[in-house]
Amino acid sequence: MILVLKAGLGDRQMSAVLDELAQLGLHGQLLCSGEKRLIAISEDTSTMASHLFTRIDGVERTIQVNSRHPLSKEGKTAAASIDTVFGAAPPVVVAGPCSVESESSLLELAAQIKNCGANALRGGAYKPRTSPYDFSGLGLDGLKFLAHASSVTGLPVVSEVLSPEQIGEAYEYIDVFQIGARNMYNYELLREVGRAGKPVLLKRAMSATVDEFLQAAEYILLEGNELVFLCERGIRTFETRTRNTLDLNSVALIKRISSLPILVDPSHGTGRSDLVRTMSRAAIACGADGLLIETHANPEKSISDADQAITPDELSSIITESRAIKAALTLTRDRDRTPATSCLSDALPSAPVVTIP
Ligand code: PEP
Ligand code: MN
Repeated sequence: MILVLKAGLGDRQMSAVLDELAQLGLHGQLLCSGEKRLIAISEDTSTMASHLFTRIDGVERTIQVNSRHPLSKEGKTAAASIDTVFGAAPPVVVAGPCSVESESSLLELAAQIKNCGANALRGGAYKPRTSPYDFSGLGLDGLKFLAHASSVTGLPVVSEVLSPEQIGEAYEYIDVFQIGARNMYNYELLREVGRAGKPVLLKRAMSATVDEFLQAAEYILLEGNELVFLCERGIRTFETRTRNTLDLNSVALIKRISSLPILVDPSHGTGRSDLVRTMSRAAIACGADGLLIETHANPEKSISDADQAITPDELSSIITESRAIKAALTLTRDRDRTPATSCLSDALPSAPVVTIP
């Protein structure tokens, strides 16, 4: 159980709450989530009435925790977070090159992406590369190019940071900090980015369970940062024909057990440009709040991840289809009040016409 304490409680009152808990035989741990002060009780309290806690002076309310990721259930709705950060309704599309390559190519691509209807520009300036001999990004110059492209297009910038030191360096150039798959388990980085006060896009580690993924998000939320976007980017399985296995189970599950928005990255999820459109459709159909797609004016010339980059024209089709699929699902839900994904076929005749080859 988590106790949410009243605002403005002093140290003495907080320790009085801990004393009262001790009298009930419980051990409380004080947590800070931004302005909020919380107490986590590790013992099983499921048989105890909640008024035993709410009558303690200084306790505002209780959160019964039957999962290990309570804050991810508690916050804003996915749609509210998306509106705050992207000024749009789901599905949002975040697009851009795997790596920022030059200022001129980025400016050109950003304008094309904007024309396609994307909601944010994403490009890597600090690139985590499996091989230390591969291109590892333009660093600060890359960030400056992103900020310039953002000022020209009005698109917010999403970019990855790899270490706590880079958060400070990148702060003024980035609107949303990306934490990549390789750093999902880097708890100090998660805490730091939680404290930074900007939205965070957290990618699932390639071997993380859904619970580990949500617990990683809890680290950020506990620092008082409510604007966390999850991103499913595929997991490592025995399959070798695709770069990863895009786990859409996780999306359907997370939509049930968490209020956090979840985006899907079909680029890293498949590693194949010819599968990106199909898996984008599947992602939106199973409830994803948006997509993260690697896009390049000349995909085959992309310095990194050339096999999975798509062209702006392909991006444009994906955005149109995604909105139509989402609209169809919304119509279905409004009409039937049943889970949105159960009867897409019913919805399509009355939904905006989409031609899906
Ligand atoms: C990326 O988004 O550029 C990236 C490196 O992806 P991931 O962290 O999912 O491997
Ligand atoms: Mn990439």
